[in-house]
Amino acid sequence: MMGMDQKPQGSLFHIGIDMEKRVRANHPLRKVRERIDFDFTYSEVKDRYGHNGNVSIPPPVILKLMLLLIFYNVRSERELMDTLPERMDWMWFLGYDLETVIPNHSVLSKARKRWGEEVFRSFFERVVLQCVESGLVDGRKIFVDSSLVDADASNNSIIDTKNLKQQLHRNYRKLESRLAEAGERTSSPRKYRKTNDRYMSTTDPDAGIVNRGKAKLTYQVHRAVDGQSEIITATDAAPGDVNEASLMLPLLDQHNEITGLKAATIVCDSKYGTIENFLACHDRGIQAHTPDLHEVAVKRMKKQGLFSEDCFVYDPVGDTYRCPAGNFLKPKSLHRNRSGRDYAAPKKICAACGLRDQCTKNKTGRTIMRHLRQADLEMMREASRSPESKRDIRTRQHLMERSFARATRYNFDRARWRGLWKMKIQEYMTCAIQNIQVLISQATKRKNCAVARASAWSNRLITSVFFLLLALWSSNAPLRRRYALVECAFQKTESIA
Ligand code: SF4
Repeated sequence: MMGMDQKPQGSLFHIGIDMEKRVRANHPLRKVRERIDFDFTYSEVKDRYGHNGNVSIPPPVILKLMLLLIFYNVRSERELMDTLPERMDWMWFLGYDLETVIPNHSVLSKARKRWGEEVFRSFFERVVLQCVESGLVDGRKIFVDSSLVDADASNNSIIDTKNLKQQLHRNYRKLESRLAEAGERTSSPRKYRKTNDRYMSTTDPDAGIVNRGKAKLTYQVHRAVDGQSEIITATDAAPGDVNEASLMLPLLDQHNEITGLKAATIVCDSKYGTIENFLACHDRGIQAHTPDLHEVAVKRMKKQGLFSEDCFVYDPVGDTYRCPAGNFLKPKSLHRNRSGRDYAAPKKICAACGLRDQCTKNKTGRTIMRHLRQADLEMMREASRSPESKRDIRTRQHLMERSFARATRYNFDRARWRGLWKMKIQEYMTCAIQNIQVLISQATKRKNCAVARASAWSNRLITSVFFLLLALWSSNAPLRRRYALVECAFQKTESIA
């Protein structure tokens, strides 16, 4: 007889459900709960709550909810709260049981507003410190790179702030007041300036417009990664259109501060290879393994069929340059803002020169700019062309691509929220999760190694006992043979020790 599907009747009571037993032993969240401290948030945010009124969701639960949101790449906070009752492992991770009332999705946005970015930064720093204590960070060589992240705003929201018609519009005044409010709310002063202040988005004014084939509203995310286990030791976010080079030193400082280790070498791409960065590294005694922007300029000149600066020979005694035509370029003017001095040949000489077409397109003749600290600069540039530097630059490419590629599984390519400080929260959480993954996988590897060592130890012990027994059993054998067997047993026991 064919069985018919009966309408199931739900049990009225559930007895003997132990959430602890329901979640498997090797569940990733179990490992996170075992290794990561979330209770630090109590002391971190206690000043941001009042002494009476409604009781809030405990801060560690809020942080765990934020971790679940990014770790499982849940599309929205509303979806997270809708899914929560269906996921026993999430409930267990939060310390909830089956009857616990699920909080409203708005608790997360309210907590972010109340806490600011500092708590999430602290969380990231604590995870990095834990990695340092576990011996996963070498700290002497760091690799730096940035990636663009799409802002959560449409290109239709971009306005021209210099357009008078738009300034007179009522909505523009609303935007201005919102920006002023946002400026007051931001706790940390902005360390960088957008290069494009004229155009901005009304929905996310912090985002920068970057044109890479197509104009897009974006943020920049910068990371410093340690070479040993690929732990992200420093991170920062900025509007998409800031000068990337300006974030290299803050990242270096952040790395030194968080890890307590002093980086001796920094490996970056050519975007960071500015004169200011080379000299700053020189002053700090750090090797800068980065392609030089000066090399790019030299190649461009050669492509145009013009003499590059390398064709001009400097004479330190006379403080002059000798040009390819054999004439002298003497100091002309000092530019304090650029920390350099211009060198030029007399206008008449350049005008009458036969090599002029290969030298300059300027009517007044060729000028060479020499930095006031040119000797230090050349020393750093020379080091950046060494074989070790070239090897590091090649390593950086794969290492940083891997770090950003791993982040894409946490929806790294797109900002979840609007505003720079929220972009930073997203990045701190993403980096903390990536580091936790490494921390857990390394701990598992070590555990497996310990198990393998213990197994090898027991094998050797069994073998040595076997040889001893064999020696005793073959007591009728010649003395030399028995002696050899006992010696073999001793050797095995020694290897165990
Ligand atoms: S144009 Fe002036 S600087 Fe250039 S090669 Fe001729 S003389 Fe020298």
